[in-house]
Amino acid sequence: MHSIYIHIPFCKSICSYCDFCKVLYNQEWVNKYLLCLEEEIKNRYNNEVIKTLYIGGGTPSSLDIDSLQKLMDICKIFNLDEKYEFTFECNINDIEEEKLNILKNNGVNRLSIGIESFDKKKLKFMERTSNYDEVLEKINLCRNFDFNNINVDLIYGIPGENLHVLKNDLKKILTLDVEHISTYSLMIEDNTKIGIKKIKPIREELDSKMYKYIVKFLTNNGYEHYEVSNFCKPDKYSRHNLNYWQNKEYFGFGCGASGYIGNVRYTNTFSIIKYLNKEVKNKEELLSLKDVMDNEVMLGLRLIKGINLQEFFDKYEVNLQEVYNIKPLLKTKELIYKDGNVFINPKYIYVMNEILIKLI
Ligand code: SF4
Repeated sequence: MHSIYIHIPFCKSICSYCDFCKVLYNQEWVNKYLLCLEEEIKNRYNNEVIKTLYIGGGTPSSLDIDSLQKLMDICKIFNLDEKYEFTFECNINDIEEEKLNILKNNGVNRLSIGIESFDKKKLKFMERTSNYDEVLEKINLCRNFDFNNINVDLIYGIPGENLHVLKNDLKKILTLDVEHISTYSLMIEDNTKIGIKKIKPIREELDSKMYKYIVKFLTNNGYEHYEVSNFCKPDKYSRHNLNYWQNKEYFGFGCGASGYIGNVRYTNTFSIIKYLNKEVKNKEELLSLKDVMDNEVMLGLRLIKGINLQEFFDKYEVNLQEVYNIKPLLKTKELIYKDGNVFINPKYIYVMNEILIKLI
């Protein structure tokens, strides 16, 4: 069984920190884009059974009603498993009855909503608009349409932010009573508005304090910390993202999307112009067995429960410890072995990249 990611690159405005593949909304481009997307899917997809489908962006919810319906019609081609998960990313400002109705009637069963913060200064810095009352009202509206699996995103580590601001954001997020929370520390990339302005990131020490506070706060309030940046209520994991972290195959369709099928990792063009001219592919790479195992380790250790040694052996017919020198890291307690799994000591998750470098 496979997963599918579909990228919709259109946004109504561009956030200051955004490094994703996106472009300002243009209806003419949207119309053409959906035709190209349909063609790409028909060329690549061969009726495989799909267990998770994720439409992200960009801002998929920015599509007007007709385009949204067209996108949903395109998705009817997919042979969805009985227990499929179908996630649709929404901007809070776009949530309205007519759109929710279309999503519900076309099988979407999970919403991922970019909230990012409730703090005015943080939102201004990110060039985003919303407020707590609006968020609450929109989430209630989603509940009225029977969406009972909702993720919200939170961004922290904005220059000028302190623990007090973060605590307020977390307290408010908790009142939304959503099933899943994804948290991201702000990254300042060169090609973003804030990168061009040479804005400096917050001190690493504060960032680490914030991360630890988030983990403590959310786990104390009924959320399971199951991946470095992700938290959920019992059993409400993002099954789509678990597929990535378990290094399983997925199709990626749309501008800037990437996929991983049969040991080939491919990336589509990031240029909307090229995509609309049907020059879809950017890069294709055949991975060696060692590359595949490296990915398995890098992704698997993002999960709090880590990598199951028996599953690794069943997949690659070799023991993890024969390929990777895990002993020194077990000795320093950076890695822990328990109940057949190897995982990063929760104390060191914040510095997991250093641990991965030592390992790989
Ligand atoms: S962060 Fe999301 S909404 Fe903002 S510009 Fe980027 S893709 Fe669009």
